[in-house]
Amino acid sequence: METKVTRDPHSYARPQEAVIRHLDLDLAVDFDKHILKGYAEYTLQTAPDAKEVIFDVRDLVISKITLDEDTTPAVFSTGIPDDVLGAALTVKLKPGTRKVRIYYETSSDAAALQWMDAKQTAGGKHPFLYTQSQAILCRTWIPVQDSPGIRFTYNATVRVPKGLMALMSASNPQQLSADGVYTFEQKRPIPAYLMALSAGNLAFHRYDDKTGVYAEPETMKAASYEFVDTYKMLVAAEKLYGPYDWGRYDLLVLPPSFPFGGMENPCLTFATPTIIAGDRSLTSLVAHELAHSWSGNLVTNRTWNDFWLNEGFTVYLERRIMEELYGRSYADMLAVLGYGDLSQTLADMKADGNMKDSRLKLDLEDRDPDDGVSDIAYEKGYLLLRTIEDAVGRDKFDPFVKKWFAEKAFKGADTEEFLEFLYANLFAEGSEEDKKVEPKRWIYEEDLPAGVKAPVSERFEKVKQAADLAAGGGKIPAEQTAAWTSHEWVYFLRSLPAKNSPALMASLDAQYKFTQSGNNEVLFVWLMMAVENNYADAYPELEKFLLHVGRRKFVKPLYEAMMKNPATTEMAKEVYAKARGGYHAVTWQTLDKIVK
Ligand SMILES: [Zn+2]
Repeated sequence: METKVTRDPHSYARPQEAVIRHLDLDLAVDFDKHILKGYAEYTLQTAPDAKEVIFDVRDLVISKITLDEDTTPAVFSTGIPDDVLGAALTVKLKPGTRKVRIYYETSSDAAALQWMDAKQTAGGKHPFLYTQSQAILCRTWIPVQDSPGIRFTYNATVRVPKGLMALMSASNPQQLSADGVYTFEQKRPIPAYLMALSAGNLAFHRYDDKTGVYAEPETMKAASYEFVDTYKMLVAAEKLYGPYDWGRYDLLVLPPSFPFGGMENPCLTFATPTIIAGDRSLTSLVAHELAHSWSGNLVTNRTWNDFWLNEGFTVYLERRIMEELYGRSYADMLAVLGYGDLSQTLADMKADGNMKDSRLKLDLEDRDPDDGVSDIAYEKGYLLLRTIEDAVGRDKFDPFVKKWFAEKAFKGADTEEFLEFLYANLFAEGSEEDKKVEPKRWIYEEDLPAGVKAPVSERFEKVKQAADLAAGGGKIPAEQTAAWTSHEWVYFLRSLPAKNSPALMASLDAQYKFTQSGNNEVLFVWLMMAVENNYADAYPELEKFLLHVGRRKFVKPLYEAMMKNPATTEMAKEVYAKARGGYHAVTWQTLDKIVK
């Protein structure tokens, strides 16, 4: 297999010398000790003179390594561990070695693994486990060449206590196994950050031959209702971008501590339950994770510096899928909300004197890639693609994107290859379109180019007028808000002034019941406003939310706002002390720096 070599600053692997091509994984899940134990056996592709193979490991206990059929222990050494990168595991090879088997167990505080007691689940009777490998946490549960530029297929056997179900980013069971043993196969080569495992008391609801949802039985009714349009999304995506290449597309609804909105694990998106709103209003997240089946999982950023290639494309695809299903005016609302997030992020970066990370091409050398990730990759990336689309028209842009996926599938790409592909297929470097779009300006320079066209939404124009009316104490006619989606409510709240009188906060809450909102996006914006306006009536709900939800997008800004306001600093510390144990490491590692 042809692999372009770009040095990945976040992996010790030397793929030119010895690279993994296939993994056979065998793991037992120990819920009492909070560890995984077993072996990872890799089939290698080696250079003729390869003397050793290097893996990334972090907090793993390696007991033995063997080569091919030989059961005598092989020679290996582990380097000095770095806090973020972990260590290099170097295994000496013999001439002609094809397979390396590593016997190991994880540590009980492996960063990728979230172990939940029964009481932290919806059902309350069984423990639960899920992994989060992106960006560089796979190495905390599997010794692996943990670089997005390295792909491998895998088979796995996973042993869990009887009565529980195990699921992976692969072909999955739809029923409980009698003995707690499950086998998996991922035929498509994937990078390590897409390795995923979950185990718990799980049920399956099948929508059709292609799509379905896994959830705890207690959550299933709400979950299966919410995601019923998944197949329509799949059809819309295939129409735009070519065949879905991964077999089934199922969703797994996780407990509320899941740190992200969703994780695009192949065949099985992991999703936060915070998008279950009862009215299917937050399902653009499903469109987003599904879109990753093309941008990210098929065409992968070669290093985390090129992360915008994964996320910018995915946000663009997400909005095109939503447009296919619900119309242009719906997709326009999403684009305007995204632009609002981007403007806020840029303002925060300016205030912090950290505009470096506002470039699409990142420089994450010597940093945790998780720290450099922001809305920039998502929303500035989206805006660049949208700007190109506007400049050339959809009749040219759509085939271009389809060709990008077809040509780069299972190979990966970096930012420079994107530019090369753009100039070879859409417009020439130095052409009128190039001068109009300025792609290099977007990619390599800070902030947004001057004169960038902000997305607009007609539906939001009306919402803005209503917010102005409400801010002045006026009453909005009830028929105007009757058909609003949660997006309109979010935009309404965002359009109110930053500082509001206690009387206005109380009257808005009395009228629209924001503190009791069952929609987490609306509730989140309202709770932010509550902290910034000292609206203490919402604080009991705020505490409940922080204790219940671990999604970083919500809890990070809330803790930041609470720490900034002297009236809520103590509350932030007290709530965090209670909540921290229920958060995934991805979340608490971020929050530890905020709540001191
Ligand atoms: Zn994404």
